[in-house]
Amino acid sequence: MERASDIPLCWKGSMAQQKEERMATRAFCQKKINQLQRSQADLSVRREKHTHNRPPVIKPAQTLAGLQVPPQLICLQKLKTFNEEMKKAAVEEFHEASGCGACLHNQATLALHSFISRKKSQVCAQALEEKMQSHLYNKDSIYLLGQILREVPRPEDDPCIVWKAMMERWTSD
Ligand SMILES: [Zn+2]
Repeated sequence: MERASDIPLCWKGSMAQQKEERMATRAFCQKKINQLQRSQADLSVRREKHTHNRPPVIKPAQTLAGLQVPPQLICLQKLKTFNEEMKKAAVEEFHEASGCGACLHNQATLALHSFISRKKSQVCAQALEEKMQSHLYNKDSIYLLGQILREVPRPEDDPCIVWKAMMERWTSD
């Protein structure tokens, strides 16, 4: 069972709208017919007055000029157009992506891009982890102590060589 709120806006009062539209169109057409009849009557009167038989030229634009379209009819036409646009938009909303080639292609491209970026970040994280492990291993306190002991002069070394090595280090630093 459809509730009143479920009925699309464009359908609400469509009967009343149609009736109103018909009435406005009828009034407009009646007005036009009256004006045309009046102008034809004027022409026949003029024809009787004139002696020459040249047929009068009737320009439709001239006879219809000055006739105004009722604002009610314009409003109704605008509403009708709006309703039709809404209906079109509602239909377009139900776009089936699974059956559309362009959508499927875009989805595949997106999936590929996300896969590549995910793998790239995984590889980067792994490389960083390896670097950190190697740094921790190389800068271990026992390793550093061994490195210091290797560089420190031994008691049996020749003092001249020790001094020379120390001077070289100071000048290089
Ligand atoms: Zn699509």
